[in-house]
Amino acid sequence: MIDTQVAVFCDFDGTIARRDVGYSIFHHFSNSRNDELLPDWKAGRLSSRDCLLKEAEMSPMTEEELFSFIDQFEFDSGFAPFVEKCQVVSIDLIIVSDGLDLYIDYLLKREGFEHLKLIVNHGYIDGNRLIIEFPHHNQICRKCGSCKGERIQEYRQQHEGNTNIIFVGDGYSDACATTEADVLFAKKDLERYCRMRNIKYQLYDDFFDVAEQMDSMGLFVKQKL
Ligand SMILES: [Mg+2]
Ligand SMILES: [Zn+2]
Repeated sequence: MIDTQVAVFCDFDGTIARRDVGYSIFHHFSNSRNDELLPDWKAGRLSSRDCLLKEAEMSPMTEEELFSFIDQFEFDSGFAPFVEKCQVVSIDLIIVSDGLDLYIDYLLKREGFEHLKLIVNHGYIDGNRLIIEFPHHNQICRKCGSCKGERIQEYRQQHEGNTNIIFVGDGYSDACATTEADVLFAKKDLERYCRMRNIKYQLYDDFFDVAEQMDSMGLFVKQKL
């Protein structure tokens, strides 16, 4: 029998956090001016890197203003039990985001998840300017800031044997992961994206739902480490 390791990759904005925190931050601090960029970004004419840099430029904010603004955002209530379920059987859980560590670190810490693995772009505030850096290099993809498809490929290269990759997401920033994952959970924009391209996906509502479907697919088995 060949041992197969299960790993879960999941998006943050709109997936773990119920609403899109990154979008809301830029929407709020740019006085909605960021909306003019989105049609080009959704159509692939504007890369995520350029979009993020432009959004940052139009969104002055201090650290204090930012953190008090994001305190309103809540997590999917199924996420905590999902994390625990993964831990019990040693399933590797990795958060992949094309947002910024600046707000994701803060919210993960607030919810007691600062130990989780996170692959994300880097943001910090200097005075009232938001500075963004891209520490994760994309070999091929020119669309993403940190390409989720390439992060999954790297994971497979680093882990010998068969890896069964589960991906959970909700939006266009998850597009590159759709062809790399073995099992894909999609909702909202990501569901539309998959439907239009005939990409197979499991529709889900929240992490309770993901857990239930993974259970019925027999994916929660004790991992051999
Ligand atoms: Mg998202
Ligand atoms: Zn990509």
